[in-house]
Amino acid sequence: MTQVPNVHTAEPIPDAAREAIDALMSSGDLFRYTAPQDAPVALLEQEFAELLGSKFALAVSSCSAALFLSLKALELPRDSRVLIPGFTFAAVPSSVVHADCIPVLCEVGENYRINLADFEAKLDQDISAVLISHMRGHTSDMDAILALCEARDIPVIEDAAHSLGTTWNGQNIGTLGRIGCFSFQSYKMINAGEGGILITDDADLVARAVIMSGAYEHNWQKHKGPHGDNSPELAQAFAKWQNKLPLYNLRMSNLSAAVIRPQLPELMRRVRDGRANHDYVAEQLNTSPVLQVPAPLAPEVRAPDSIQFNLVNMNAQEIESFAAATEARGVKVQIFGLSSDNARAFWNWQFLNDLPELPQTRAMLMNACDVRLPVRLTKAELDVIVEILLVSAAEAKDRAAA
Ligand SMILES: *Cc1c(COP(=O)(O)O)cnc(C)c1O
Repeated sequence: MTQVPNVHTAEPIPDAAREAIDALMSSGDLFRYTAPQDAPVALLEQEFAELLGSKFALAVSSCSAALFLSLKALELPRDSRVLIPGFTFAAVPSSVVHADCIPVLCEVGENYRINLADFEAKLDQDISAVLISHMRGHTSDMDAILALCEARDIPVIEDAAHSLGTTWNGQNIGTLGRIGCFSFQSYKMINAGEGGILITDDADLVARAVIMSGAYEHNWQKHKGPHGDNSPELAQAFAKWQNKLPLYNLRMSNLSAAVIRPQLPELMRRVRDGRANHDYVAEQLNTSPVLQVPAPLAPEVRAPDSIQFNLVNMNAQEIESFAAATEARGVKVQIFGLSSDNARAFWNWQFLNDLPELPQTRAMLMNACDVRLPVRLTKAELDVIVEILLVSAAEAKDRAAA
């Protein structure tokens, strides 16, 4: 019989990374700005921008750092109000606080997407920027969001940490707003342990972000335009911002870039496998009367490495019993709202002043389950997980009925 798979271990890093790391070990050249050109970090930026179809990329230490730099690069005055979804990871409101801004939370519906009525209402409450976090890779209605923001001339940052490979109307997530931010933390589609990258078509904006990321003195000269070519507009922007901005030193090391680059050609395969795995599991979970996987929106083609589903018509006791039953069988189901420390439940963001109440988001979090589905899982392993979820759900209902 197939064993319950460990869903927390990663897949191996491609062998090609060894050679690049060996070279770095021999030369000791780990700092991105030592080599005159073609440092692994610089090559990663060029390749990533090309892969996503944007002009510029800046690799940094994490997606959180990319979000922070994006907000700083927008030159938002202190205490600017930044609208974010109430369902996201604590790193997102944290990056807003880090940038001396105030996060304003909007409601998220039971399909994990932004409630557009609440979004629109809050957008007119003195909002200076919008940070759309595509939480767990679920895309909100970006056509509506971009139109609302454009009409008010409010810049949009995309937190695409968990959306690498997702498309919206055929366009890559992360290229829809002014800036897109991605993560290379181990639980994301590309794994470097830690790391992040931001992409944009705006030369002035990326110049500010590059300098603040720690391109001190004239190190910005090692940042090029598309395809590694010299870019006069970029050089002009750098000259304008020289010595004018603080240096936060959030750079990426060459070692991280050496681990990431050989994974880029794997991305499309991972996206395909992840989506097929997710959709296979979703179809079977949806056969249960008490489990429900929300459908994607029509323009959205997803790139999941986890699955979220709602418990329908289950009371608190049945939900607890479902969680206990799955855990006893070896599948850890995280119900976002159930633990006292879940970093994705907004009421645990107690570092925020004036923490609001979001009744719709809270109701969703109390019923929404989260199970990791690493793209490497086989069909037999997926079947084991599905069986455990279905049996535990039926049992939780039966036990309550008895
Ligand atoms: C992982 C994640 C982050 C944080 O990324 P780091 O690289 O760990 O800073 C932010 N937002 C979302 C949606 C994430 O999934």
